[in-house]
Order: sequence, then structure tokens, then C-alpha cells
Amino acid sequence: MTDTATHSNFAGPIFAPVDDGYAEEIAGFQTAYTHSPSLVVGAMHAEDVRAGVEYAARHGLAVAVQATGHGLSVAADGGVLITTGRMDKIAVDPQARTARIGAGVRAGALVEAAARYGLAPLNGSSPSVGMVGYVLGGGLGLMAREFGYAADHVRSIDLVTADGRMRSLTPEDELFWAVSGSGGNFGVVTGLELDLVPVAEIFGGQLVFDTPLVDAALAAWREWTATVPTALTSTVAVVTYPDIAPVPEPLRGKHAASIRVAFTGSVADGEALVAPLREIGDRLHDDLRAMPYAESHTIHSDPPFPHAYAATNALLSELEPRALAALRALTAPGGSVDAVVDIRHLGGALRQGNAPVGWREADYIVRVITDASEGDAVPDSHAAVREALAPWTIGHSLNFLYGAGAAANATQTAHGYAPEVYARLAAMKAKYDPHNMFRFNRNITPQR
Ligand SMILES: Cc1cc2nc3c(=O)[nH]c(=O)nc-3n(C[C@H](O)[C@H](O)[C@H](O)COP(=O)(O)OP(=O)(O)OC[C@H]3O[C@@H](n4cnc5c(N)ncnc54)[C@H](O)[C@@H]3O)c2cc1C
Repeated sequence: MTDTATHSNFAGPIFAPVDDGYAEEIAGFQTAYTHSPSLVVGAMHAEDVRAGVEYAARHGLAVAVQATGHGLSVAADGGVLITTGRMDKIAVDPQARTARIGAGVRAGALVEAAARYGLAPLNGSSPSVGMVGYVLGGGLGLMAREFGYAADHVRSIDLVTADGRMRSLTPEDELFWAVSGSGGNFGVVTGLELDLVPVAEIFGGQLVFDTPLVDAALAAWREWTATVPTALTSTVAVVTYPDIAPVPEPLRGKHAASIRVAFTGSVADGEALVAPLREIGDRLHDDLRAMPYAESHTIHSDPPFPHAYAATNALLSELEPRALAALRALTAPGGSVDAVVDIRHLGGALRQGNAPVGWREADYIVRVITDASEGDAVPDSHAAVREALAPWTIGHSLNFLYGAGAAANATQTAHGYAPEVYARLAAMKAKYDPHNMFRFNRNITPQR
């Protein structure tokens, strides 16, 4: 039990390593590693966050934040961990088309709340991801090419900074810009006000092609992406589906290519747009349809259960056939890297916006996701992928780097931004968090 004076300062529970409930409180979606703080503050509201930061400042401790654990990078070793899962309030303003969300709100809950008004947030593929962590890392959503990065659709930010101050930031504040795309480097966000878009229904789903058609599907998708409007955002993933019961029968154990589509236009236009994809050949699975936006999580069908994963990525200026061939040489069955490969089509509205999101000019992002329990093989596989894609790589996305160690070091973080953007963030970090209290993250080194 932690000292009672500390307990009385918080409305939510707090935990020391010896306390019952400590292990449950720090557990997250990533199971390869966990935080091991000396104090956990289970924040109920912004005042608990402020008290947690103040406690850390008084004791010279660093602060980590966890909403869901999907994006755990640098695990806290000592220090204070603020868990935000209890801060799950959502208030939708249908007239203004905005939502105010607490720090612990997950994408699925916000999708549901907005759908009641025929609106949608700019969420990503998985309903269990935390909206605040997602937005702070840029936020590449299902409708990204039409609406851009979620970080460009933030109206206001409530934040506790390293000096223990609660601040309400709007775009006029210099700190607003820095916070909106820097992954928690400037403080603990207690709430965000986000734009919603008037999308109640979309045309989308998945087309899955069996092993003999994987290369044809990759080549056809690549050519097809050059022809589609920005109202269509798509991804191709090459997956070896596990041979287990939760996977639908036709996909179990199959090495296959899955093309995922989200289109905000009419069903007739959607059907016409995807016709060239259906010409690739027979599908193992084809559920392209008009769907309420509330079903959009089925487009990617990300695994809902916690597991151990690591990933690298490359933002590419173009997706040349040679790049696809290099990737396949490494990751096809029999290659040296056992991974899920996921390539998302970028461009459109992603190119504009003010938030510090790196490499907006990229046309594609290649993600390579490996099993983190493979230990030493993980950094080698990631290095091999990066080397193979180097001729076309312009940078890396911070939201899609998973794993500790080298994947979370300062050099990798710097590669998430153009050099001049990183330099500006590093100078602001020196001003607002000079002692690097918020360092259990993809850390921006304070630098004047
Ligand atoms: C299955 C899966 C699917 C994904 N899909 C997408 C996608 O489609 N598009 C996309 O862009 N990203 C996607 N991501 C990446 C995801 O957006 C990031 O990993 C994000 O950081 C997760 O945030 P979280 O709060 O859920 O995770 P957490 O691990 O709880 O938080 C991650 C980090 O975010 C920061 N953070 C979180 N909350 C706060 C806060 N209140 N104040 C300050 N800092 C905070 C901290 O640095 C923390 O370490 C996906 C990840 C997974 C595992």
C-alpha cells in the first residue's frame, strides 16, 4: 500500500508494486513487455492527472501514460504511470460536428456515440485503440485520403504540463501545434475536442485472394490505386492466417492477400470502382457492401486480443514493382522474415494540414508486423525490410512503430519528422519539459 497522504490526493485508485491490482492495472494490449512504475495513478479525471504529475515533479520522477497499451514503446522502469482508461466520457455536439473525449476513450466507443447523429470520427482500423494516443501519433484513419490525418482535426486540447499546470489549448497557442502530433512528449492530455464528419454509411469491406493470386493481387492493387478518387482509401495486407477456430473456415491457415476498401461515395460508384479488383480472380472471401459506419471495424478485422507484436514501417515516395518484389523476396513463405505485410494507400488530404506529422508527401506506407516473441530475430528482420525498401523510403511513421529497444530509440523518433520539424519540436520540448519528465514514449530529446 502506498502512503495514505498520497491516497487522499486522488479520486481514482493508486497502486504500488506490492498492491493487489497493480499487475491488472499496468497490463495492456502489448504483451511483449509492460511498464513497471513505482506508482500507478488510475486517474478518474483531470485533477487526478494533475496530482499525479505534481507528485512526480516533487519526487523527481518521470511520468508514463497508458490508455490501452496498444502503442507501448519505452516501458517505464520506476516513475509514475498514469492510466487513463477510467476517463472515458464522450460528449457529441451534433450541430458543431465535434466530440469532446476523455483521455481513455477508445475508437469503437466514439464511433458508436457519433453514429447516433449520423456522424463519424476519423478513427483507424481497430476499435480498441485509444483515440488520444492515436491522434497524438498523427492518426491515419479509414477515410484518410478524403479527410487527412486525425491530428489535423483537433479543435482543442486539455493538457497537464511538466510544471503541473492544467492548460486548455486552442490552435492559437504555440503548444497546441507541438502537442497535436508528438505522441505525449509535452504532457498528459486529459481531453480532446475533435471534428466529426457527416458519414453515416460507407461502401467497403475486404476481398481476399488465395496464395496463387497473392502476387497478382499486389500488382493489380498497386496499379489500381493510381486510378481511384480520394473518397476511396484502401490497404492491401499479405497475411498467413492462423489455423485456429476464431478465423473463418475458408481463411484458416491460408497465405493470402486481403484488399481492404473504404469509400464514402454511392454504392453504385463503389461497385464500379472495385470491379477491376474482382477481375483479379476468385476470392476466398468478399464482403464488400454498403455498411453503417459503425461496422467499419470489420474492414480490417484487426485482432481484438492482447498479444506480443513488433513492427517497422517505411513511408514510400512511390510503390515501384521493384519495391514490391524486394518485399516479397523477404516476406513470402520461405523468405527470411515471417510477418504480416500491410501497405496503405496515402495521398489526397493527407498531404495538407498543420499538425507535426512527418512525410506528408508519401504515397504509400509499408508496414511489416512480426511476432515479438521471436526475440533477437525481430531487429534483424526489421533491419532487412528497411534495407530492402531504402531506395524508396522517405521516412517512418511513429504510430506504426511497435516494439521496444531500437524501435523506440531517439534516432527512430527523429526519423518520424522532417529535420526542421523535429528541430522545432526539440526546442519546444526544452522550453516546456526541460527535464524530460515525459520520456517513456517515442522521445523527443530537449534541445535548444
Ligand atoms: C491493432 C492496432 C491497430 C492500429 N491501427 C492504427 C491505425 O489504423 N492508424 C493509426 O494511425 N494508428 C494505428 N495504430 C497505432 C496506434 O494509433 C498507436 O499505437 C497509439 O499510440 C495507440 O494509442 P493507445 O492510447 O491505444 O495506446 P497506449 O499504449 O495506451 O498509448 C501509447 C502512447 O500514446 C501516448 N499517450 C496515450 N494517451 C496519452 C495521453 N492522454 N496523454 C499523453 N500521451 C498519451 C503515450 O506516449 C503512450 O505511451 C494501431 C495499433 C494497433 C496495435
